[in-house]
Amino acid sequence: METDVPSKTAIPTQKRPPLVHTSETTVDFAARASLRAKFALSQRVRQSSAIELYSHLAFGFESRRLEELKRCRKVGWFVRHKETGLVRLALDRCNLRWCALCGSARVSWITWTVSEWLANRDRPKFVTFTIKHSDADLGFQISCLYQFFRNLRLRPEFCAHVRGGIWFFQIKKSDRDGLWHNHFHCVIDSKFYPHEELSSTWCQVTHGSRVVDIRVVRQPGKTANEVARYAACPCDLSKLELEDRVTAYHGLHGRRICGTWGTAKGVPLKPPKDEHPELWENVGSRTVVRELRFSDSKAKAILDAWQNHTVLEAGVNCRLTDDFIENNLAHLRKLEVQNYG
Ligand SMILES: [Zn+2]
Repeated sequence: METDVPSKTAIPTQKRPPLVHTSETTVDFAARASLRAKFALSQRVRQSSAIELYSHLAFGFESRRLEELKRCRKVGWFVRHKETGLVRLALDRCNLRWCALCGSARVSWITWTVSEWLANRDRPKFVTFTIKHSDADLGFQISCLYQFFRNLRLRPEFCAHVRGGIWFFQIKKSDRDGLWHNHFHCVIDSKFYPHEELSSTWCQVTHGSRVVDIRVVRQPGKTANEVARYAACPCDLSKLELEDRVTAYHGLHGRRICGTWGTAKGVPLKPPKDEHPELWENVGSRTVVRELRFSDSKAKAILDAWQNHTVLEAGVNCRLTDDFIENNLAHLRKLEVQNYG
């Protein structure tokens, strides 16, 4: 039976994750700029791998997904809350599992929620469960591992030690043996759990796999960031050949890749949906506001309110410029049709 004893609150104490880093850092600007450039490059490579995958799968429903992926986060609008006056950036996004850009946004959210949960536990643990590598079909291997993990959480000896946790699934293709290596990573709310005991229980449920790693979480933020990366993307597509990407895509299609149980139930692994979208008004496209920020006081006010989390007065917007550009583009498109028609 799954343990469901609430020891401490599972919901993070803050209402929303911090949008800016408030702590001081010793890393100098040049080093930070270099890290940012490195990250941007790796993200572009990952996104190209995902686009190549969806292009390969592009038939029927997948064709629409490919278009959404290509368009993801390229268009954005600044929006103002009609009651609070606060400004946000709303992006046109695809939310596809293999999208590197949406994956990064998920990492930020999950890192925050998981680290909040970990910080409220008493000596939480980080555990990795592995099964013996085999050349069986990836989908079959994944089904078996999911079933083993479900069975483990029903075992009385496991429930006696573990009050709850958050799990993340990861797959990797080994360069050494060319086989898929599948893992479950978990952060658990547990008292002392001897490694030998846990390994023995895992061996029983998997019929022979003993490999388990368990360690105390000493840096909740660091551990949360590590597991969040698996939830954002269960494997790095840019490190796989196209054929393997297709295998991974089908093997994980329709499966959840992270979840909670016991005392972690209620930890939100997705940002909550805005219940009142009608309260947000469009105050200008991202492109126009950014382009006009040095020459137009309204654009500057919008950008300042967004960056500093301050109130934007009602009626301040760049909609006229947006409409002017949109109308002229529509006019140009018409001319183009007439010229070539
Ligand atoms: Zn996306």
